[in-house]
This record gives sequence, C-alpha cells and structure tokens, in this order.
Amino acid sequence: MAREFKARGNQERSLEKRKALKHTPVKLAIIGGGAAGMYAAAVAAERKIPCVIIERKARLGSKVLMTANGRCNFTKDIPPEQFLEDVGPGAKFVEKAIKECSPRKIISGFRSMGVSLKRMSDGRMFPADGKAATIVHAFGDYLREKGVPIIVNSPVEGIQPQKTGFIVAMQNFTLWAENILLATGGVSYPKLGSVGDGQRFAAQLGHSILPYRPGLIGIETQEALVIRRAGQRFERSEARILSRDGAILYEYRGEIDCEKFGLSGGAIYNCQRFLEHYLRQNQGSKVGDYILEALFDGERVAIQGPKARSVKEAIVTIGGVALDEVNPSTMESLKVPGLYFAGEVLDIDGPTGGYNLTLAFATARLAVTSLHI
Ligand SMILES: Cc1cc2nc3c(=O)[nH]c(=O)nc-3n(C[C@H](O)[C@H](O)[C@H](O)COP(=O)(O)OP(=O)(O)OC[C@H]3O[C@@H](n4cnc5c(N)ncnc54)[C@H](O)[C@@H]3O)c2cc1C
Repeated sequence: MAREFKARGNQERSLEKRKALKHTPVKLAIIGGGAAGMYAAAVAAERKIPCVIIERKARLGSKVLMTANGRCNFTKDIPPEQFLEDVGPGAKFVEKAIKECSPRKIISGFRSMGVSLKRMSDGRMFPADGKAATIVHAFGDYLREKGVPIIVNSPVEGIQPQKTGFIVAMQNFTLWAENILLATGGVSYPKLGSVGDGQRFAAQLGHSILPYRPGLIGIETQEALVIRRAGQRFERSEARILSRDGAILYEYRGEIDCEKFGLSGGAIYNCQRFLEHYLRQNQGSKVGDYILEALFDGERVAIQGPKARSVKEAIVTIGGVALDEVNPSTMESLKVPGLYFAGEVLDIDGPTGGYNLTLAFATARLAVTSLHI
C-alpha cells in the first residue's frame, strides 16, 4: 500500500513537471511526414531529440506508398562516390549528406528496424515482400515505440520566426518550436500531399525558389511506331540525347515503355531528366535544339525537341529552394538560423533507381544531426 502511494506520488510529480514544461518550445518541428520527415523523426528519436511531425494528409508517407509501383525502391546499394556521380547536377551540395548517410547505412537502418530486404542484381533495394507499406509501417512502429508525436490532417499554414524559435501555425492551433525542418516535398503528384507549401514558406522567409520543371517523366509523341506498340514494355533498350549535329550528349540503357501518349520507362526518364538539367545549365538553348533517340525492339525513333509531360505527373520535381542559400554541411538556411531543409523541397533530384528516396533520407539525417542542441 505504501509503495502504491509512493508510486502515485511520483506520477503526480512527473505530471507536475510536464505541466511546468508546457510553455517551452519543442526542440524540432518536422513539417511534412513523407520520406524525409519520417527519416528525420527516426534519427531525432534515436538521438533523443524531442520532435513532432506535422503532416498535411491523414497518414504518413502517402508518396512513399506509391514508389516503384507500390514496391518502394528505397536506395541503390552502391558506394557513395558512385551514387554522387550518378546524381550529377547538385551532387556537390549533397556530398556530405550522402557520405554520412550512404546507401549501406540506409540499408542497415531498415534492417535494424526489422525490415527484410531484397537486392536486385544492379543494386536496387526493395523490401523483401515487395510492399512499400512495409517501409511506411516500419517507420510508424518505430516512431510509436519511441513516443514521437505525429499530428496528421494538419496542413501547416505559416511559420513565423520569433526571438526564440518559430511559431508554426495550423488551422486550429499553433505550436512553438526551437527549430524547423521543412520536409514538405516537391510539387509533383500533389494529391499525395506535396503541393509546394514548403517552398512558399521558404520564399516568405527570404529564400529564392528555382522554377519547377518535371524530372523523370514520359515524352509525348504520336510517332506511328510508338502508337502501334502502345502497352508494350521493352526491357533491354537504349535512349539517347543528341545535339542537332548528332553528337551524343547522354545515353542510358534500360527499359522503354510505349504508351498511348508516347514513351516512358527508366531509359526515357533519365534522358528527360538529363535534358532538363542541360537546358538549365545552357541558358539560351532550347529543347528544339535536341533530339531524343529511342532504340527498342530493333527499331529507332528520333524525336526532335522532345516534349515532356507535366511536372504534376513527374516522379520528381526539378527546382525548389535554391541550394546556394542553404549550408550543405548542415542543411540549415543561410538566411534564417534554426530553419532546416530536407528532401525534394530543395532543388535536388536524382535519376531513377532509389536515388530520390536516398536523397530525402540523407539530407534529413544531416539536418537532424546538425541541430544546435
Ligand atoms: C509515382 C512515384 C514513384 C516513385 N518511385 C520512387 C522510387 O521507387 N524510388 C525513389 O527513390 N524515389 C521514387 N519516387 C520519388 C520519391 O517518392 C520522392 O523523391 C520522395 O518521396 C521525396 O521525399 P520528401 O520527403 O521530400 O517528400 P514527400 O515524400 O512528398 O513528403 C512530403 C510530405 O509533406 C507533406 N506536406 C506538404 N505540405 C505540408 C504542409 N503544409 N503541412 C504539413 N505537411 C505537409 C505531404 O503531405 C507529404 O507527406 C517516386 C515518386 C513518385 C511520384
């Protein structure tokens, strides 16, 4: 009896303590519970950094559930140097993030969360049961076990910097946080929650936003050969980007799919991404100056000025928060101390094959491990 009494006394004291804490800011508010946000919260929990996730949709990881047709190709088991070379544009910015959170580290992280994994011959990694939901559930279970609060159905509407920290405003309440991690994603597949809010908040806080372009998307064409083959997939194919004089600027061996609208598949996606970046780097050049050559099923299709489908349908968004205003060693804003970024909200993107989720995870880890605590 006396023991029970004492236990109750302790409980009351600890409740008192919690009450006393109610007017202190949370150490970290993670805005967006997608790939970067979930990973960030897991890293914060591992380091015992108090954090909260605020998610716009009714559940975490809506986009992750859709990755690789619901199978989630979450990384590629290759050395960080190879990974960075494959990423190409933007690789310098993510170098530290990827070296500190390499594909191997991501793989062992999922294993330690109890997820069985499957490695393809080219290094692409998937959950062994081929279900993206297994990855999202693993995050959910881990965060619940660690007691990380998750606020869903709550789009953040604004962020106001204070003398100490920030006020995060939602529709019905506000929250005070010492640090903010913007992990709200790009602008593709907006139905999955990524609608560009993070870029809007960043712009309001003085950041420059690079224009959005589609990354990893199909090319429209009504070439008779493509239309005749619509619905067919050609696994060992090749696609190239040529200059007007026929010089090969980029080539990629992989899958090509013929669709009613034109061409898609990994080889086409990577060529399309290459051309978007190439046009950005060579201001003044026009898409019409380049040719997409697709070689499949013993045939050749050449498309002058390949027209990409819209950014809303793209796998990834090119553009977003300008990298020269973010510290690549910490992912912290160079304009607003305490404001951090991770994932597609930044102007970073990679090719197909698990690179984009890896970029989200690695930038999230670097942001959390860099917090001033
Ligand atoms: C169809 C498809 C297939 C893909 N397949 C692969 C693949 O196999 N491998 C790979 O590596 N990549 C793949 N990708 C890309 C990958 O999914 C993204 O690059 C990755 O999810 C980006 O992570 P993120 O955390 O930055 O953004 P998201 O995962 O998009 O997460 C952002 C989150 O922020 C939330 N949010 C937005 N605004 C607010 C707000 N105001 N308040 C609160 N929350 C907010 C959103 O609801 C969302 O949950 C695929 C993408 C698509 C569309």
